[in-house]
Amino acid sequence: MIGLGRIFGAVALLLADRDRPSSSNFGTSTGGRHGTAGLRTAEIFVAEGAKIVIAGRRAPEGEALANKLGGNCIFRQTDVTVEDEMRALIGQAVEKFGRIDCLFNNAGGPAQTGGIEGLEVARFDAAMATLVRSVMLGMKHAAPHMRRQGSGSIINNGSIAGRLAGFSSSVVYGAAKAAVIHLTKCVAMELGESGIRVNSISPGAIATGIFGKALGLPVEAAEKTPDVMREIYKTAQPIQRAGLPEDIAYAAVFLASDESSFINGHDLVVDGAITGGRNWTAQQQGYVAMRKAFDQGAG
Ligand code: NAD
Repeated sequence: MIGLGRIFGAVALLLADRDRPSSSNFGTSTGGRHGTAGLRTAEIFVAEGAKIVIAGRRAPEGEALANKLGGNCIFRQTDVTVEDEMRALIGQAVEKFGRIDCLFNNAGGPAQTGGIEGLEVARFDAAMATLVRSVMLGMKHAAPHMRRQGSGSIINNGSIAGRLAGFSSSVVYGAAKAAVIHLTKCVAMELGESGIRVNSISPGAIATGIFGKALGLPVEAAEKTPDVMREIYKTAQPIQRAGLPEDIAYAAVFLASDESSFINGHDLVVDGAITGGRNWTAQQQGYVAMRKAFDQGAG
């Protein structure tokens, strides 16, 4: 449901929006399930009444999205791994809207796949910069403004791969997301005393282009994979559908709103229980097969 106004009047900074050279639609209408978690969060935050600043590396796509979302959304070109750009971005948000109530550190991307012996130091460092340094920079530069206000909600995008081994094609990605989840808790202990909440969201299998990119597809081709991902992940978890970008967006709305004002240092898992345990149907089928094997053994 859109438009409850739960974050009406809030000023939110969202990293990153769609910043890829893609021609696929932004929309909430017919193709509305396409997109990234950042894109849907931007759409839903505006629908919920927030004023937002979106950031990403590609200006044409970012500006087009900001125009589409209207006067409550501005875009600033930003590489989230670069400290000067992050400082300037957060400064602009405060200058434009006078405050910053929510920061959503969402930018991310895949990391090198393969075993430990093949890892390249430069690619390891680049992935850590995208996935961990960016989160640190966002919190570092938003914190002084939020402290002055005496309030704020910082949301970092983690992953179930940061909670359990074996849930990413990349061991580096899993380790980076574990760092994000723990950094979130550590900073929550500090900033909570100033009225600032710091939480993470750990998505499960969300049908976006990230999987295609992780497995080596060019960005344009990866962009077209969410439909396939929805099929592949349909029965992977007890909830019989893949995760969608809006599942993450609505979790972010909740964490940004005052409804979650006593939630701090928490990692909110949004995964349809893919990490909850063994899937019921598969487990039951296993027992039927086991019983059959007993019967055959006895016979
Ligand atoms: P996505 O690849 O579709 O979107 C990530 C966005 O971050 C892209 O637009 C990308 O260009 C941008 N980005 C990357 N590096 C950047 C940089 N240096 N500066 C600015 N922007 C940059 O992926 P998504 O699935 O929408 O992922 C959003 C977040 O959710 C990421 O942090 C991701 O790791 C996390 N996540 C996704 C899933 C999933 O199943 N899709 C699962 C767990 C966690």
